[in-house]
This record gives sequence, C-alpha cells and structure tokens, in this order.
Amino acid sequence: MTSDSRDSEHVTDHDLERYHLGMIVEETELAALEEHLLACSACAERAQATADYIDAMRRAIVEGDHDL
Ligand SMILES: [Zn+2]
Repeated sequence: MTSDSRDSEHVTDHDLERYHLGMIVEETELAALEEHLLACSACAERAQATADYIDAMRRAIVEGDHDL
C-alpha cells in the first residue's frame, strides 16, 4: 500500500474516529471524507462500526466509568 496518493486511498481508522468525534473541521477534508463514504461501501461499513465504538465509549464516560 502506498500513502502518497490520497485520492485513491481509503479512509483510515484514525480519520474515521476524528470524523465521528467532530475533530475534522477543515471543509475540504470533511467533504472529501464524506464523499468517499458515499462512494465506498467498505469504508461506510467501517464508519458505522467506528460510530458504534465511539457511542459505546461516550456512554461509558457518561455513566461514570472513568478508566482513562
Ligand atoms: Zn474506501
């Protein structure tokens, strides 16, 4: 796998996490990511899994399960 051609690359787990945490604020980056998720079912599935993971994490925090 190469890392020098961003356009043809899938979204990384790290970027999916940043996306769901609302940490991607740059419009061009956000648009590119969302566009890829619409076009790529593999990444859309991973995005859903990441969303579930982050939701579970948030619930744990809200419930006072501070293990961090
Ligand atoms: Zn993809």
